[in-house]
Amino acid sequence: MSPLQELVQQKISHLNPQFDVSLADMSYFKIGGAAEVFIECDTREKIIEVVQFCHLEKIEFRILAGASNVVISSAGLPGITLSLSNADYQIKQNEGDKTVVQVGSGYKTALLVRKTIDDGFAGLEYYLGVPGKIGGAVFNNAHYDAHLIGENVAQVEVVTREGEVKWLTQAECDFRYDHSRFHSSKEVILLIQFALKKGDRVTSMQMVKEATIRRAQTQPLGEPSSGCYFKNVPNTPELMQKFPQFNGRTEFPSAFLIDTAGLKGKEVGGIKVSEKHAAFFVNTGNGTSDEVKQLANMVKAKIKESFGVELKEEVFWLE
Ligand SMILES: Cc1cc2nc3c(=O)[nH]c(=O)nc-3n(C[C@H](O)[C@H](O)[C@H](O)COP(=O)(O)OP(=O)(O)OC[C@H]3O[C@@H](n4cnc5c(N)ncnc54)[C@H](O)[C@@H]3O)c2cc1C
Repeated sequence: MSPLQELVQQKISHLNPQFDVSLADMSYFKIGGAAEVFIECDTREKIIEVVQFCHLEKIEFRILAGASNVVISSAGLPGITLSLSNADYQIKQNEGDKTVVQVGSGYKTALLVRKTIDDGFAGLEYYLGVPGKIGGAVFNNAHYDAHLIGENVAQVEVVTREGEVKWLTQAECDFRYDHSRFHSSKEVILLIQFALKKGDRVTSMQMVKEATIRRAQTQPLGEPSSGCYFKNVPNTPELMQKFPQFNGRTEFPSAFLIDTAGLKGKEVGGIKVSEKHAAFFVNTGNGTSDEVKQLANMVKAKIKESFGVELKEEVFWLE
């Protein structure tokens, strides 16, 4: 046992910590070594207790939700990995023409969307096909076309790295395209309150169908991946001049640039630029996090050289 594992065993064994847990099979990318300490948190209170323990004992920790937007180091993760499955759901008060629905951050996004539609609410339909948990979706402000999930958020409850629990308003969350305050604040999202309009089931299911068909047509859904590896990039006068078909869009599709540069199908070891969606990397078998890094560097260099554009990661590295 490592010194950390001994400490955890001694002090918080009631939280059922597990040691040297392999993470690869949990991740959509099928990449990742072992977590030194792994704690499944199925309640908000358990998350708070682990975070406060980490603060007190000065232990580093990482958050894993659905593991669909991460590259986990093949060398494994030191410290404590919290896996979130806190999935309570409550219909709260009405606010104007909307109803506040409160949900634990570990609720699976697809199941939550289904539940809100079944309960007669509208607003989350386009996110049914986003893998992972709702806290992960809020963390990165999940998108479908120009729609952003943060538009539906009223408040978010977090625990800070110092163990303080507080509520944040939508404005405080600083939601933008592929961005929220949580990227830099490192607060852990506990609960999310969505403000949802009364819905019509038939219309909602039509929206779900539309988004599901579109995803199946454009994304390599059957292959292990971490979703879009790269974010779309800000559209610039230079890009607009070269590719006027995207004029009027504020975000320029990185997949188009990668495809135009002839990088579809490019491989490093077991990691490949998807043939179906050039911003996706897929794992063809035994890909490693090092190979992801090498392929990403190669794609970035080529796009910079060809178009003067700097690609940025949409995925999050856990290492
Ligand atoms: C096939 C495929 C299709 C996808 N399609 C879309 C799409 O259409 N739109 C879209 O926006 N994304 C898409 N994604 C990306 C991904 O599914 C989303 O970003 C998703 O919301 C991530 O949620 P997760 O639970 O898997 O987060 P994880 O991958 O587990 O975590 C992602 C990051 O969020 C942090 N995090 C997670 N939960 C919390 C929390 N409660 N508090 C603090 N930090 C937290 C983690 O530490 C990590 O840094 C797709 C991915 C795949 C594999």
